[in-house]
Amino acid sequence: MIQDIAPRRFDITYQNKRPREQDIILAYQKEGVLCAGHGSSVRYPTAGELADGFPDLYEEAVYLFGIDEQDFFGISGSMLMESKEFSYLPKERLRYVVPVWKAFAGITGFQIHKWYREHRFCGCCGKPTGRYGKERAVRCTSCGKISYPQICPSVIVAVTDNGRLLMTK
Ligand SMILES: [Zn+2]
Repeated sequence: MIQDIAPRRFDITYQNKRPREQDIILAYQKEGVLCAGHGSSVRYPTAGELADGFPDLYEEAVYLFGIDEQDFFGISGSMLMESKEFSYLPKERLRYVVPVWKAFAGITGFQIHKWYREHRFCGCCGKPTGRYGKERAVRCTSCGKISYPQICPSVIVAVTDNGRLLMTK
């Protein structure tokens, strides 16, 4: 499964911090992620590689997660054009990427990015939201409502009886 990235360690704990030059930037435009490479091998850009063409990057990028000691930040790619080295790869292509932790990073980053993109406005009053800063959440600039990503845990259970498996039709 794509989340099985051991021995690498995934850390989703929210941190309110800015990217450093060597941190990875996951830039998303529509349904694609900015990266270099072809086929099953990709490389995501670092903040340092993108900062020349996008000086506000260090202020705009949002901390996403860490894998081992590598931090990942997300940003909307609407202001980041493709270059000779980096282009937007459709996220569906990430399923073919190896090593799998790179695919996992790109897809997980997309899910968090999508949540931020879909919560730019308050669900109560319709005014713009902004970063909350204390947790992974957005806060309405008008009424103060705080919105969090939804977590939908699930459990799959196999009911067996003498070698038979209970199924639905
Ligand atoms: Zn509001």
